[in-house]
Amino acid sequence: MKPLILITVAIFILVSAIVVLDHSQNNKSGDVALASHPPIENQPTLGDLDAPVSVVEFGDYKCPACREWNESIFPLLKKDFIDTGKIRFSYINVLFHGDESFLGSLAGEAIWKQDQEAFWAFNKALYQEQPPRQSHDDFWITVEKIMEVAQNSAPNIDLALLEEDIINMTYQDAVLLDDQLVDQFKVNQTPSIIINGTMVENPFDYDKIKELIEGGLGN
Ligand code: CA
Repeated sequence: MKPLILITVAIFILVSAIVVLDHSQNNKSGDVALASHPPIENQPTLGDLDAPVSVVEFGDYKCPACREWNESIFPLLKKDFIDTGKIRFSYINVLFHGDESFLGSLAGEAIWKQDQEAFWAFNKALYQEQPPRQSHDDFWITVEKIMEVAQNSAPNIDLALLEEDIINMTYQDAVLLDDQLVDQFKVNQTPSIIINGTMVENPFDYDKIKELIEGGLGN
């Protein structure tokens, strides 16, 4: 048995070393400096609007990784950098999942027009309504679901107006603007995180996110 265990341990160490090596190589070359930073005028933005670093999330309400990012990374970002006034954080809609993404986005834009704080509560709550990862392609974003989520997460908004805005697609132009930005900034996965014009290769690498923000703060 003993040699077998030794061989197993040796293989494990070798594989770990390769993974670590591969990871460090990715970190060196993976983040992409873009020609410019996405314009955040008319986008929901949290934090000090004069903060020197702008962080943009491109997110899709139907995307399981976005939900995971919002639950794992966003709270860290909020505590370390948004609440402390170091960054501005903006959310831009992505429509990779079609009609349902569009509907969620329309609702988000309408709520933001009514009450900017309510938008963030709704955004978080809608992500929480996602079915489990294995069934995320199931049809779930409906007007009824949105109204239920809005009523629970943002009870102070005018719900009748929200329903009207969704049905009349009042803020369609805002959603289409976001879609144009997705094209313009070549967003091809969600969530995509851009920090002062740099697209983060791995949005779940919080150390890397911190490093880019600190760099932008001149630290
Ligand atoms: Ca928008």
